[in-house]
Amino acid sequence: MANATVTCTKCSKQFLVLDQEQQFLQEKGLPLPTMCPSCRQTRRLMLRGGRVLFKTKCQKCGNEIVVAYDPATVTNPIFCKEDYEKYFQENDPIISDPLPEN
Ligand SMILES: [Zn+2]
Ligand SMILES: [Zn+2]
Repeated sequence: MANATVTCTKCSKQFLVLDQEQQFLQEKGLPLPTMCPSCRQTRRLMLRGGRVLFKTKCQKCGNEIVVAYDPATVTNPIFCKEDYEKYFQENDPIISDPLPEN
């Protein structure tokens, strides 16, 4: 496999999907990302999928959300997408990306 250039479906920016990233996704049975790393950052929980999804509530606004981890076992705050984005802008990411980004 070679590195692939993909256009982000969200912001139309072009980004690279590295050979090893493609292999990682293939092993996990996941499709190639359709969004650039920064857009993907907000979708990480979904990309981690293939696991059990849990329904919980955003700690900030109370909206019902779906997460890829057991809410009872996490110590970091659980937010909906909007609040999560805000949180990411104000804090260092607590959840590390499973995909190599460089
Ligand atoms: Zn993007
Ligand atoms: Zn919220």
